[in-house]
Amino acid sequence: MTPQEVLKKYFGYDSFRNGQKELIDSIMAGQDVFGIMPTGAGKSICYQVPALAKDGVTIVVSPLISLMKDQVTALNQVGVYAAYINSSLTAGQTRMALEYAKQGKYKIIYVAPERLETEAFCDFAFGGYVDIDMIAIDEAHCISQWGQDFRPSYLKIVDFIDKFEKRPVVCAFTATATQMVKEDILCILKLQNPKVVTTGFDRANLYYEVRKSKEKDREILEYILGHKEQSGIVYCATRKNVEQVYDMLLNQGLPVCKYHAGMSDSDRKKSQEDFIYDVTPIMIATNAFGMGIDKSNVRYVIHYNMPKNIDSLYQEMGRCSRDGERGECILFYSPQDVVIQRYMIENGTDMSEIPWEDRAVIMERDMERLQKVNYYCNTTSCLHNYILNYFGEYDNKNCDNCYNCLNEFEEMDITKECKLIIEAVQSCNQRYGINVYVSMLRGKANAKIK
Ligand code: ADP
Repeated sequence: MTPQEVLKKYFGYDSFRNGQKELIDSIMAGQDVFGIMPTGAGKSICYQVPALAKDGVTIVVSPLISLMKDQVTALNQVGVYAAYINSSLTAGQTRMALEYAKQGKYKIIYVAPERLETEAFCDFAFGGYVDIDMIAIDEAHCISQWGQDFRPSYLKIVDFIDKFEKRPVVCAFTATATQMVKEDILCILKLQNPKVVTTGFDRANLYYEVRKSKEKDREILEYILGHKEQSGIVYCATRKNVEQVYDMLLNQGLPVCKYHAGMSDSDRKKSQEDFIYDVTPIMIATNAFGMGIDKSNVRYVIHYNMPKNIDSLYQEMGRCSRDGERGECILFYSPQDVVIQRYMIENGTDMSEIPWEDRAVIMERDMERLQKVNYYCNTTSCLHNYILNYFGEYDNKNCDNCYNCLNEFEEMDITKECKLIIEAVQSCNQRYGINVYVSMLRGKANAKIK
């Protein structure tokens, strides 16, 4: 079957989307590929279609058990023989799956990267049972220490590929496109003369807004009550915030669920399923939630706090309206968020896997990224452009779909005021917090100021 026929037969689509055909044609011609496409662009099709159009077996490396399960279930439903092998299987199930794999029963096999090192899997892969002619690496940014989702086990993929006598075609996919991460993927995975396809990062169907509100709970509640029929996600920085927002909405009788790392596996699984199947279409979650979630009708993504960088923000907002319909992404900003994120960078990052000499560099990089998301929250220019520029795209037309483009800002010269503030802070040797300076500059005569 040709890729076009596979697309129609198994997935029911008539045409390829932007970028898909180029990548698939290259894979079919035996060339490595690297696809950089935003969330929802349709990366899975780029390796599933050639996997079915080619003669051999494809191994898909994926970091997420839930994603593998969803994809394999979806493939099985359309009559494709696919399986996954990861830690959610019992030893007996794994043995069985590998046995079937050796018999050539599966066209596509999803594995967690850790699996590639195991003896049993290597026996299957290199024992001459089947012809593995393609390796697809999903969420390829996990290989980079510059990315936010670094997984040390991703570094093993290349050793695995090197062991093949006849090297399969290797394809990597990611939605994260910063230059450092791109370079890491190309270099660490040793992609050979790859076809690199980057599709635009603009999500023109999404409306972006930043609000600086003193009453964000009330505003969020009002917003959700005003969008009662819709599915949405509220991202919070901490578990405590998740619980608090969840309780607030539950008290209003809204169909809400929650997700954070403090919940048991089974509770999280239930929440996720209830959300996906619209039993409880409003999800309150930390950033632990969302990678690999394929729910096309999420109509709003609210950030209760500012995330730690643009990459996270873009990825989380990207879960909105994956079907291309209009969606809204609203970030509630407070300067306190910067303080919290700075604290997390200084104290909250697990650096145990990272060599000493790299730690200072990573911390500096994270601070720089924090600064950039802070600018996003404070700019009066187009928010779409801000994000595109961050990812290296410069087509600076106003978007007409963000708060900043749809509203007028009044410009004022506040040089004099700034000068006074700086002088005040300087004259006190930066010893006090903001309230003292405000009182001082306003000429308050309270005891502390006197
Ligand atoms: P990504 O991995 O890039 O975030 P997915 O592979 O999950 O995106 O695809 C997102 C959605 O787009 C899925 O529902 C998928 O079925 C759909 N899709 C992908 N390719 C096409 C296509 N050529 N035509 C129509 N829909 C498509």
